[in-house]
Amino acid sequence: MSEWKKFKVGMPASKGFNSSCMPFDAVSHTSHVGSAINIIEAGEISPSLVFDESQLNDQRILVSWLSPNHWSNGFRYGNIRFHFSFKDIIEGKKYYWVEAIAYRIKACRILITDIDRDSQLDAYDPMSPTGPWWLNSSDGYHYFNNNYCLEFMIEAPVPLSNLKRIDFVDHHSSYCSIHRKNPSRCNELGVHSSKGGAIFLTRAAVSGVDLSKFSEHFIREDGRPRTELESAFNEFVVRVSRKVKFSGSFTGESETSIAVVRAVMSAFTFGLMEEAKLLCEMFKDETTFTNAAAIVLSEMVGLEKWEELAST
Ligand SMILES: [Zn+2]
Repeated sequence: MSEWKKFKVGMPASKGFNSSCMPFDAVSHTSHVGSAINIIEAGEISPSLVFDESQLNDQRILVSWLSPNHWSNGFRYGNIRFHFSFKDIIEGKKYYWVEAIAYRIKACRILITDIDRDSQLDAYDPMSPTGPWWLNSSDGYHYFNNNYCLEFMIEAPVPLSNLKRIDFVDHHSSYCSIHRKNPSRCNELGVHSSKGGAIFLTRAAVSGVDLSKFSEHFIREDGRPRTELESAFNEFVVRVSRKVKFSGSFTGESETSIAVVRAVMSAFTFGLMEEAKLLCEMFKDETTFTNAAAIVLSEMVGLEKWEELAST
């Protein structure tokens, strides 16, 4: 029996949903803040060697990881999620079953590639509802068995030119994909979505990363900030300014104010909260600090009116 049959999809629900047969049209790659910045700078999710206990780990196959799963208890992979259209990803490709990995929740792995690997792997036919991924020809929807983790291994870079959306998710409170053996070493362990977003946006700001190319993911069509941007910004301002005794002289949006805000962001993104708060004291009050922070983040994401962010 083919191994994938153990994970076969159920029937699409006629009402409500069936977790063993969930429709999907997007797949995503979720990463920690540092990797997310690297992805933005590279303009793509770059494939890498498979280093876990996978049967591909002794072959020089480079893959990028994408998945349709949403983890409501938090993601092991980090806080920053990049979404892509699944149709774009699979167009003209070959599909192979790689393996099922016995994690706490079993992970089914399917390789999506241009390369003929018939001699190494079993071809996977999504048109047949006998495995965890099914393309139903009668309704045209892709379905997956959400009782398992489905991991697509893409044997190619995934360019951000095809990016559909960026959002922020919760990092799981006790599992981490980077520090598998010692999750407490992860600085982002248990960090919730808006704080993850705040760490990401401030890291981009202090690293000189230009997110204005991705402005549609942070700004709505009417020019107002999207919820993701608003909640990350508020998280940053509230966390940093809480219990700060504002006693400084910075009042306006001067170059000095902007420079100090960047220093506050730098301390915040690297977890130096005491230092961030000490720097924050240099402002006259919370409003002047909020305005200066809104100016820096608005410029970075291409938001024209920083007042829209400061007033959220
Ligand atoms: Zn982690």
